[in-house]
Amino acid sequence: MTAAPDDALREEAIRAGLEAVRARIAAACHAAGRDPQQLTLVVVTKFFPAFDVAALARLGVRHVGENRDQEASAKVREVAGLLDAAQRPRWHFIGQLQTNKAASVARYADVVHSVDRAKLARALAKGARAAGRELDVLLQINLDGPAEAGDGRGGAAPEGALELADLVGRLDGLRLRGVMGVAPLVEGAGSDGAAQAFAELGEVAAHVRSRHPQADVVSAGMSGDLEAAIEAGATHLRVGSAILGSRPAHG
Ligand SMILES: *Cc1c(COP(=O)(O)O)cnc(C)c1O
Repeated sequence: MTAAPDDALREEAIRAGLEAVRARIAAACHAAGRDPQQLTLVVVTKFFPAFDVAALARLGVRHVGENRDQEASAKVREVAGLLDAAQRPRWHFIGQLQTNKAASVARYADVVHSVDRAKLARALAKGARAAGRELDVLLQINLDGPAEAGDGRGGAAPEGALELADLVGRLDGLRLRGVMGVAPLVEGAGSDGAAQAFAELGEVAAHVRSRHPQADVVSAGMSGDLEAAIEAGATHLRVGSAILGSRPAHG
């Protein structure tokens, strides 16, 4: 591939975004007395092209996140053509997932962050076995509170987490690795709202770990609230716009 001037500019912008976020992570870790090595950065590439994923990989990014099957499956194929096998990132599926897309996602995702119901867990397990693969699975926990449950943003009720964890633990094809949460969008609540939500996620995580000690991943924190997530003990951050720029609407 020839490096067109636009491509070089884009790669430079991605490098700057990545450096800025790595600096934020380092500062937040310093403030929280944590080692940045304990944190895995998943760069969310939804709405951005395969070129950007390849650029991220060349800049040392090992984990990327996608939230729609159709877009992700095409991008995975495209990226495979742009990078050597050793450079290819691990793919994290972070979006709400319909059961009928589970078999497709099971063919390319390495980690699924959004398992929030038994039926989806069973469909993913079946898809993984059919593909001869094993998927790392996180349980998405709804942090919006009871009044907001069922609003379509997904997530299992915190009270249901242990039962779902036990099920995932029994399914061949899946490896239970931890929990994931998205802080609620509360007008004016700012980082306090996020801190509260991530504290709740931490409690659910500890509860799940008490029975499944290997499930030590806590996926929390996005562009706007990664500091609160680090403070609350997150192990994985899912950061998109702070690195890649703003997405078209409804991303
Ligand atoms: C899009 C998305 C992100 C990244 O959001 P940014 O605000 O762009 O960092 C993280 N998690 C989930 C579940 C997402 O859908």
